Amino acid sequence: MPALRILMVTAEFAPAAKAGGLADMVAGLSRALGARGHDVRVLMPHYDLPGMPADSLVAGRFLSPVRLGDGHPEVRISAARLGAVPAWLVAAPGLAGPGVIYGDGARELQRFALLAHAIVPVLRATGFVPDIVHCHDWHTALGPLLLRADGAGPRSVLTLHNIGYQGWFDPELVADLGLAACRERLAGAPGTPGSPSFLATGIAHADVLTTVSPTHAREVLTPEFGHGLEAALRARAGVLHGILNGVDYGEWDPARDPHLPARYSAGEPAGKRACRDSLVAACGLATDTSPLLGCVSRLATQKGLDLLAAALPELLAAGRLRAVVLGSGDPALARAFTGLADRFPGRCAFLDRHDEDLARRVYAGADLFAVPSRYEPCGLTQMYALRYGAVPVVRATGGLVDTVTHFDPATGRGTGSVFRDADPGGVRWGIEQALGWYADPVAWARVVGNGMAADFSWDRQVQAYEAVYSGAAAPR
Ligand code: ADP
Repeated sequence: MPALRILMVTAEFAPAAKAGGLADMVAGLSRALGARGHDVRVLMPHYDLPGMPADSLVAGRFLSPVRLGDGHPEVRISAARLGAVPAWLVAAPGLAGPGVIYGDGARELQRFALLAHAIVPVLRATGFVPDIVHCHDWHTALGPLLLRADGAGPRSVLTLHNIGYQGWFDPELVADLGLAACRERLAGAPGTPGSPSFLATGIAHADVLTTVSPTHAREVLTPEFGHGLEAALRARAGVLHGILNGVDYGEWDPARDPHLPARYSAGEPAGKRACRDSLVAACGLATDTSPLLGCVSRLATQKGLDLLAAALPELLAAGRLRAVVLGSGDPALARAFTGLADRFPGRCAFLDRHDEDLARRVYAGADLFAVPSRYEPCGLTQMYALRYGAVPVVRATGGLVDTVTHFDPATGRGTGSVFRDADPGGVRWGIEQALGWYADPVAWARVVGNGMAADFSWDRQVQAYEAVYSGAAAPR
């Protein structure tokens, strides 16, 4: 297919600015598209984070249409590289505080409104003429409207990574966010007149919508998973595609991962034991023969970690497993896991932080890996766990359904444990299944091997994006 020019507009890009899977997905997709000959550029905020590239060449300047502080300061766009991918970074005084990607009250809305406003000035200043502007999640979802308001130009694709976050704003802020001229075209969820959101506006105006797994593409059309946007999404179902996220195995491979104390592969698995021993020692856990259950997650209701916290005590008390949970976020969930770690010293460790190095050591050191999500658009952690030889225990929702199949010892098929009910009993059932297989070394070797051999590389998914881009780039 002919090479395309694509502008990725995103709040995150791994490893420079990562809060979750969005960063991995956009970086992985960008690299995969680049490897197939497409010209991919990235537009993102210039955060005050240690991993951001140094501010370099100025590529453009424009006056902020978004009110920041007392006025409308000059916005500076610098050219940089995020690994091999060329990028433009948007900076303005007070736009992003130290260490911040999200949050920071009203400044979060301003930061991301300005990111969308920067698309057209960047294209003008640099002369880059993309076929596709690919926006990701609510943070960039004003992009399609602002592109249309500007006249012809490139087609827009909006990917819905997590519609639980929509970017609601007070209509009184319309002018301050630089949106007065398109006030009439802002959208909100049906039934909430006068309550616009970035995401609903993007859903209304993007040429094409995608979400990050086929199952979730069906789920979002229902009240249970639509987060109030199901009617808006049903109205656009004809342009909504579900494309599973890929894994960049160049970055996520236990045979090459520099973060691990030992390397291993399906053919040479010995290093996994060393990774487990090292993690157990680092977390102060007991050395015994029980399996180690790992979890790496944002601490959010979505992720079902309250269910895990409720399911674990019985299993920990009986000495049937040890557990290590790495996560940050909701203080109530952090308290629940701190309580578990206090109650079961040597059996349960809780690491309350965001730590990429440790995350990889958990995937490598764990025997089982829990993903008990209430909803999960795609989920990457279960795919990393599979490759690192940790058997995922997942709830049957969204991308978890599309990536993990329940193991059947009779046929030797399947890659993990899939449970249905979003309650502690469901989680416990899922873990019990895996503990049963663990007790049989032949079954265990089989389920681990199946998981490590599963292939979710971007090579497969990137062609689905190419098809979507080509369709969108055709005349409307
Ligand atoms: P989401 O994007 O909804 O948080 P995903 O499963 O798509 O969930 O992606 C999560 C990503 O964030 C993975 O790369 C995972 O390793 C990483 N991650 C989550 N929590 C932490 C943490 N506390 N420390 C380090 N990495 C984390």
